[in-house]
Amino acid sequence: KPKALIIGAGIAGIAIAIRLAVKGYAVEVFEANNYPGGKLSEFEQEGYRFDAGPSLFTMPQYVDELFKLAGKNPSDYFSYKELDVVCNYFYPDGSRLKAYADVDRFADEVHQKTGESVKAIQQYSRNSSRIYDITNHVFLEQSLHRLQTYLSNRTLQSILRLFQIDALRTMHRANQSFFKDERMVQFFNRYATYNGSNPYQAPATLNVIPHLEQHFGAYFPEGGMYSITGSLVKLAQELGVQFHYQAAVEEIVLEQQKAIGVQVNGKVILGDTIISNMDVWFTYRKLLNRYTKLFPEKILNQERSSSALIFYWGIQKQFPELDLHNIFFSADYEAEFNAIWQQKTIYHDPTVYLNISSKYQADDAPPGCENWFVMINVPANTGQNWEQLIQQARQNIIGKLSAMLGENVELFIINESILDPRSIESRTSSYQGSLYGTSSNNQFAAFLRHANRSAKIKNLYFCGGSVHPGGGIPLALLSAKIVSEWVGKSESR
Ligand code: FAD
Repeated sequence: KPKALIIGAGIAGIAIAIRLAVKGYAVEVFEANNYPGGKLSEFEQEGYRFDAGPSLFTMPQYVDELFKLAGKNPSDYFSYKELDVVCNYFYPDGSRLKAYADVDRFADEVHQKTGESVKAIQQYSRNSSRIYDITNHVFLEQSLHRLQTYLSNRTLQSILRLFQIDALRTMHRANQSFFKDERMVQFFNRYATYNGSNPYQAPATLNVIPHLEQHFGAYFPEGGMYSITGSLVKLAQELGVQFHYQAAVEEIVLEQQKAIGVQVNGKVILGDTIISNMDVWFTYRKLLNRYTKLFPEKILNQERSSSALIFYWGIQKQFPELDLHNIFFSADYEAEFNAIWQQKTIYHDPTVYLNISSKYQADDAPPGCENWFVMINVPANTGQNWEQLIQQARQNIIGKLSAMLGENVELFIINESILDPRSIESRTSSYQGSLYGTSSNNQFAAFLRHANRSAKIKNLYFCGGSVHPGGGIPLALLSAKIVSEWVGKSESR
């Protein structure tokens, strides 16, 4: 059997392990932490359960596909519910909006609450869908770095339509052209944050993101987000994949520009294929640091996506007006993004995302209580004075939520932990603590992400949120799919 060695048990590392095990490889996964999942992990805090990172589950078909590939029935391992209301929105002027999954119902809600026409929402939705049809096949499902991608008819048809993907103006400009009401512009601008970008810079092509949520739906996995990790690890183990925890890879071993193994705890393990699920920046700087001449510097120096500051609060009360996903918008969205991207600091009135999994999974909190995952977007870590910024942000967030909910929320917080860009960086080796690898703040970003295979080192592949096609669970899973289709093929790039 050929042997594959995988560095990291993030969601893409687990997915590639499954795919290669199904292809007949002997697979070993080396994970630095003593738990799998990387960003997609969970923890317990005095009777409250929290998902540590992702909270929004979209495109579940990419998870199901892994079970089907192994000849299993996905629902024997993993189940999820589609959300009727994707998210509750709270605006600083006191207005509230429910983002219904059903487009017609959502359009009615928008019309009633903001006066925007139903037609404007429908047109917007058709525009997102068109961008998806053109970009999905070329930019997401295949490598941009393989000749064969460009030889298929379907790719050529998409390339001929590329002028329709709205790459020359920003998301914000495009959204202004669809809507008169600033609240709707802000609503759709927010989708830039789904991959850690800035709507005032990112190309309007990213207006495809609402389509992914509206057309394919948003879901809640039974048992919480961590059950994605847990069920896939179970499947991988059944397929014979060996997981080694507390096994940080120290070096990728090369022989004449060919990866032949990894070094873990001073010991060399040889393999036929080496796949890094570790952030690509650290893969080069830490595991290949003796080969700086082989570094793709331009690619590695791309701007990083934003990071996050999260407060995990055990709350001793229930709030009926809140749902699973809730957004409390800032009054000046542009100023908020300027603070994050230009001043590289935390804005004094941040947009707050509040996730409460106990709304769907009652045993995630004690009876009568809720588990609050309170997150704001913050810049990637470039050495800011985080202690000071976090204390200030905590006060501002509590003040804002209290004002918008009409209750002093601080009184109900009975336990707390905090995740910030520094701890995101140290716990998952994500450069600068960025959540989604590189940002998509310019039209060329898709082409400037690292490929899924090394151009200079044979037998070395990459999967995960820091490489093509990008961050977020669905794209990380697609990166594993692209790698599995590439491994073992000898064609040149
Ligand atoms: P990662 O999760 O980055 O894991 C990499 C793994 O490699 C880690 O386990 C790490 O310990 C291991 N590793 C690193 N170095 C070594 C080494 N030398 N040796 C061995 N192991 C090593 N996505 C969504 O789809 N929806 C969301 O709602 C969402 N929200 C998010 C909120 C937060 C706070 C965060 C942090 C992320 C969020 N994301 C969301 C993004 C999503 O979590 C990531 O894109 C995805 O989980 C990345 O998976 P990955 O496979 O790249 O690996």
